[in-house]
Amino acid sequence: MRQYIAELKKLSSNLWWSWDTEAKELFKELSPLLWERVNHNPVELLRHISNDELLARLNCEFGEKLERVSKRFDAYMSETGTWAHEHTPELTRDPIAYFSAEFGIHESVRIYSGGLGVLAGDHIKSASDLGLNFIGVSLFYREGYFRQYLNQDGWQVEEYPMQYPESLPLEKVTDADGKDLIISFTIAQSEVHAQAWCLNVGRAKLYLLDTNIPANESHYRDICSRVYGGDQNMRINQEILLGIGGIKLFNALGISPAVYHMNEGHSAFLTLELLAARLAEGMSLEEAKKAVSSTCVFTTHTPVPAGHDRFSRDMMHYSFDRYLRENGIMFDDLMRLGAENPEDLHGQFTMTVLALNLSRAANGVSKLHGEVSREMWQHLYPETSADEVPIDHVTNGIHIPSWSAGFTERFWKRHTDSLESMTASPEAAESVLAQVSDEELWCMRYRLKRNLMDFVYRYLSNQLFHQHVYTSYLEDESSKSPKNPLSPDVLTIGFARRFATYKRAPLIFRDIERLTRIVNHPTMPVQIIFSGKAHPHDDAGKQFIQQIVENMRLPQFKGKIIFLENYNLGVAKRMISGVDVWLNNPLRPMEASGTSGQKIALHGGLNFSVPDGWWPEAYNGENGWSIGHGEQFDTDEEQDRHDAEQLYATLENKIIPAYYERDENNIPVRWLKKVRNAIATIAPVYNTHRMVKEYATRFYLERK
Ligand SMILES: *Cc1c(COP(=O)(O)O)cnc(C)c1O
Repeated sequence: MRQYIAELKKLSSNLWWSWDTEAKELFKELSPLLWERVNHNPVELLRHISNDELLARLNCEFGEKLERVSKRFDAYMSETGTWAHEHTPELTRDPIAYFSAEFGIHESVRIYSGGLGVLAGDHIKSASDLGLNFIGVSLFYREGYFRQYLNQDGWQVEEYPMQYPESLPLEKVTDADGKDLIISFTIAQSEVHAQAWCLNVGRAKLYLLDTNIPANESHYRDICSRVYGGDQNMRINQEILLGIGGIKLFNALGISPAVYHMNEGHSAFLTLELLAARLAEGMSLEEAKKAVSSTCVFTTHTPVPAGHDRFSRDMMHYSFDRYLRENGIMFDDLMRLGAENPEDLHGQFTMTVLALNLSRAANGVSKLHGEVSREMWQHLYPETSADEVPIDHVTNGIHIPSWSAGFTERFWKRHTDSLESMTASPEAAESVLAQVSDEELWCMRYRLKRNLMDFVYRYLSNQLFHQHVYTSYLEDESSKSPKNPLSPDVLTIGFARRFATYKRAPLIFRDIERLTRIVNHPTMPVQIIFSGKAHPHDDAGKQFIQQIVENMRLPQFKGKIIFLENYNLGVAKRMISGVDVWLNNPLRPMEASGTSGQKIALHGGLNFSVPDGWWPEAYNGENGWSIGHGEQFDTDEEQDRHDAEQLYATLENKIIPAYYERDENNIPVRWLKKVRNAIATIAPVYNTHRMVKEYATRFYLERK
């Protein structure tokens, strides 16, 4: 018994469990009810489970499973035959340090807001799987990102439940004497202190800096309360903590990374701290800049100028005056590093410019985004033509083990030894697919859809209960008995992501009458599931949510169009595995990559997307559908009208008929052909194993 508890604790202390299906199931089986209540958090589960329940569960079968998982974990942790050992042995030695303002690893660790964080989480997991010596750096946000509720008017309400270190698999970072390690750095005129927590993500470590300690003045304790919380001043403080604090932490721990990878510009102040160290060694500013750039790489994620982090000259002066004096850096030299126009040091300081100036390599996150970024930043390289601007691209991917439903994984594993070997290449995927009949594939789809419908029913019951609109939704009008509004027999479209306005969540509602006909077609109906959070300051995004909620309450859409509150990694996992079609209609070219559509492939879902981000690279005419062909218009109004028309027309003429076209066994043969094509062309390419290998070989390895 003691032995079992020790093993469970060991597994709970490393987030590896979150991408091992059997490990996840162990915790769930321990107490299915509690597992839901603690938001799938094994540390909390083990803290709160009663001894009686524990005893009752730890029967022979459970013990065997536990031992199997525990052995697999130990083997994983000590593996020496990884991809990196074989292909990039240099990268198993000095670590790659990967800085990101957010990491989306699991729904129980709420230090992320959206796609950027999910990408960082998937990146660190793949780096671990591939055997890179890899360290992440971020902040410990006690209040995380908000929990979303909708009030009766469909308006988003934010709540910030606290998360406590003892509820998470966090280890306090200590010094050689076992005392809390405290680092100190300068913000404005103050000395600020931070402690650090370590999160084990497989073989990788993720350090989370935390200023919430008594040594700090109270306004500096709050720096890392919330993900992207507060005003510009809070923002710059968070970025100083992340960048400069992160380097101070490495110094204190005696870690010297081979490469610093900045995931988006938020962490770019790290280059200043590296610069200061070189200046202290006696280098000139020019020499120091060269030395720093030779160790930094930068990934940009923002295809519109306004989206980039910028700080006013005054704010820069206020925040860095003392720091610069301490380190012998002239204020104008600092401003030049972040100036879009080096002749004008009175403009704003742009974090992306700083990062570009002090990196040896930079990249966008899809082929299209690479092109857009080169054009956008060409003015920084006046001697260079747009296609030679030194910004390359590495297309984003997803961490397949994290994004595969248990059922899906077991399904494929009947025909292959692992999802990794199935997705090693399109050919490998095709050879697995060749062993699967249409009947089997369709059965898998049906099962996954039913699982989603069950989830939606339970989730919605809760949600509507506190919205006080319970009865009108989940009851059969005629009999007043409980009824799941959604059906696995109906073509199901999913749309879930952050409600940034450029993603145009309500586009499909542009013509309500047309949508009414589509949704309520007598023989070919459609149902739609929405989910997503608007940033707390983004009222236009909140209006989009409200607009959808108001529409879904119209009698013709009642129970056919659904909005699920509080989108997070857990809700995402449910949705991406169950829907037939994943809708994505951003304003092109504002979606740098997008990754949610990549998550559906192995589950047999199909993408229906504006040709933006990763989709133009992946779309081959047969593995999903495109909304238009990238036509661009002068006004948003014209663009919306055009894109909505394309959306409706493709739905009506192509997608819906293909789904409902059945053979004599009720199998949609033409549809499944597309599903097969999508699995073979998307899963083997748009994953983070491929992505991290690209970063490793093209960016992390020292160029000789
Ligand atoms: C994958 C994911 C995203 C990214 O979605 P996009 O459509 O690429 O913007 C955002 N949030 C969560 C919770 C996700 O799982």
